[in-house]
Amino acid sequence: MRLKNKPWANELVEEHPESALDRPDPAEKIDWAARFGNDKPIEIEVGSGKGQFITTLAKQHPDRNFVAMEIQKTAAGIILKKKLDEGLDNLQILCADAANLVAYFGENSTSKIYLNFSDPWPKSRHEKRRLTYKDFLAKYQAVLTADGVIEFKTDNSGLFAYSVRSMNNYGMRFDFVSVDLHHEKEEIVEKNVETEYEHKFASKGQPIYCLHAGFLPAE
Ligand code: SAH
Repeated sequence: MRLKNKPWANELVEEHPESALDRPDPAEKIDWAARFGNDKPIEIEVGSGKGQFITTLAKQHPDRNFVAMEIQKTAAGIILKKKLDEGLDNLQILCADAANLVAYFGENSTSKIYLNFSDPWPKSRHEKRRLTYKDFLAKYQAVLTADGVIEFKTDNSGLFAYSVRSMNNYGMRFDFVSVDLHHEKEEIVEKNVETEYEHKFASKGQPIYCLHAGFLPAE
């Protein structure tokens, strides 16, 4: 999803360095504990879009720390506006490329990584760009705590099948897999927090694929 450039959103990011980091230098460590005012683990959504999912989670769980990581500055500004309007002190915005994840977050800093409706990159020659390509899995493993998990949702069957294969080849453990999340048991459906894309696809009757996975301890 490429958003139309919105100058107000870009300016908002620049006006709020305390809440949003705009492509920080990967060589400099980010002091997340200082930014959140506590040193609890972080939950990151990679590719937050306009932020419906992560702002809802931040509202539901004021005791947890959330980072919306988004490469498009306009999208980052839209998330930031929601954060400021709703006073979400437990949400930070990081406008940056997920390729630099390890530089921005230390080892064992993160308890959850959410990948929602990531760009599918269907051509084989673009495999390395998929956010579930093995090199990205290695980055997630580096920042996650030992019991940390990845929660992934998509409407794209090709990306889902690829991701299961990629995670399996990496030796990951699957805790939950669904090929029709919105028609699972009531308690699962009720707990689900919808993203913008999810709402759009599900309302057209398309199934939503979902998996939760973790890394096995090193032997
Ligand atoms: N999660 C949202 C948006 C999905 S679209 C939803 O479900 O509605 C995918 C988003 O990922 C886009 O906003 C895109 O800009 C962002 N993105 C793609 N590659 C990225 C990367 N390498 N690092 C950070 N964000 C990325």
